[in-house]
Amino acid sequence: MSGYGKITPEIAAELRSAIGAKNVVYEDRDVLENYACDTAGKIFARDPEAVVRPENTEQVSAVMRIAGKYRLPVTPRAAGSGLAGAAIPVFGGIVLSIEKMNRILEIDPVNRAAIVEPGVVTNDLCKAAAEKGFLYAGYPMSTETSFIGGNVATNAGGGKVVRYGSTRRHVLGLEVVLPSGSVVRLGGKFRKDTWGYSLLQLMVGSEGTLGIVTKIIVNLEPLPGKTVNLLAAYSDLDAMVLSVAEVVKSGAKMISCEFFDRFSAKVTTDYLGTRLPCQDRAEAYLLIQLEGEREEELEAAYEKVGTLCMNLGAMEVFVAENRIDSAALWNVRQNLAEGMRVYDPYCSLSGDLVVPLSAVPRMMKIIDEVSKKRNVRVGNMGHIADGNLHPLAVKPNGMTPEEWGTYAEEYFQELITESVKLGGVGSGEHGVGFLKLPALLSTKTPEEQEIHRAVKLAFDPQEILNPGKLIRRPRGADMP
Ligand SMILES: Cc1cc2nc3c(=O)[nH]c(=O)nc-3n(C[C@H](O)[C@H](O)[C@H](O)COP(=O)(O)OP(=O)(O)OC[C@H]3O[C@@H](n4cnc5c(N)ncnc54)[C@H](O)[C@@H]3O)c2cc1C
Repeated sequence: MSGYGKITPEIAAELRSAIGAKNVVYEDRDVLENYACDTAGKIFARDPEAVVRPENTEQVSAVMRIAGKYRLPVTPRAAGSGLAGAAIPVFGGIVLSIEKMNRILEIDPVNRAAIVEPGVVTNDLCKAAAEKGFLYAGYPMSTETSFIGGNVATNAGGGKVVRYGSTRRHVLGLEVVLPSGSVVRLGGKFRKDTWGYSLLQLMVGSEGTLGIVTKIIVNLEPLPGKTVNLLAAYSDLDAMVLSVAEVVKSGAKMISCEFFDRFSAKVTTDYLGTRLPCQDRAEAYLLIQLEGEREEELEAAYEKVGTLCMNLGAMEVFVAENRIDSAALWNVRQNLAEGMRVYDPYCSLSGDLVVPLSAVPRMMKIIDEVSKKRNVRVGNMGHIADGNLHPLAVKPNGMTPEEWGTYAEEYFQELITESVKLGGVGSGEHGVGFLKLPALLSTKTPEEQEIHRAVKLAFDPQEILNPGKLIRRPRGADMP
């Protein structure tokens, strides 16, 4: 007994008459199952009873009014590239896909802002901004697949957080449909606001549990100057982490600082049919991107950073001489997750630990120890300057995918507990979703959980919006 209503043929007809028959899918199993899971994996799939694909804010409101009338669960969905099961309709009901709301409405050079609908592919926004001489800096590594609405709802991070911050820093304003169907507008084309509680910032990262984002005003940055990419190879992980701290301290204009280990480098270069320098000897790599206004400034920066890394124990530092070399290096970084999934289709991508930079060597040792103890092979990588590690875990031989689903959750739960002990958190950018909810609850005090719940109820007293995510199970509902 879930305490939620079920979608009857009459309710489906009501949805059709509110937003148009072409925007409602009901009883078409082949289509419905495409909306049953995200990139966390098919083993977590739960079929929705209906999928709605509204074309505008009014239609989103109309769906929420109908959902409220019958207490139907509604799971907002963007591109489904999430890794925490946040877009999985765990209680069935309606999946509300924002895929048809995909227009870039305005690029405003004076206010350095763009207004977009939530279904815009993140990379399309990046390209449109670049055409006008701006950078949209809030994008994740999944930029070519994810939607900007999903990025806002998960407070996505990525390869440039060390310089520009996460998506949160780039959201200036939102239009949001509340669970009641009312529309609120938060923030605007400005960068200062002490005008009451920041509901805008509360909405960012709320994983579709408080409202449905229907328009977004994003911050645009000036395009960076010239850039150069360095690949530093290490045989010692401690030396690598020390290098990161020293490069940050050196004041070099660093745009990115990414790390990947020997195993993830191997499977990815095998997949891409390429090789990295020192691959037979390196335990790990740092991929560093630096910025400079002029060629001489850039040269001075990479000389300084390269020397720093060598003095601190790098085996070699390679400077990408041209665009082709740079693109080849970033191609490896961008394909690490894909490489691991090709190596093992059941590889779990859900590791997203964050610890203070000083605790990264300890966390890496813990990942190693826990993985050996549990017989889990791991490819480790991450946005190391943010202390954000992504251990990607290969399914042990002989385990069924279902057994692995449970086993992987326990494995990550243990790592999350350790990261919290080191002063960190269980997710830096992928979010909590469905998969990390037990781990989240195990690390929050009862008082913190009560505050979370009170916030949820203030927005969504019927608990119809994305139930089963971020806060403990809804009243009167058994967690499926
Ligand atoms: C190869 C790969 C690399 C990745 N790299 C990164 C990375 O570098 N950094 C990073 O942060 N993530 C990364 N991710 C994870 C994922 O891409 C991000 O979490 C992304 O922000 C999810 O966007 P999406 O459009 O796919 O959202 P979805 O997965 O569809 O949804 C995510 C959440 O947003 C909610 N939501 C969606 N639309 C709305 C809306 N309009 N209003 C309210 N809530 C909404 C959903 O309910 C759900 O809770 C990666 C994933 C893959 C597969």
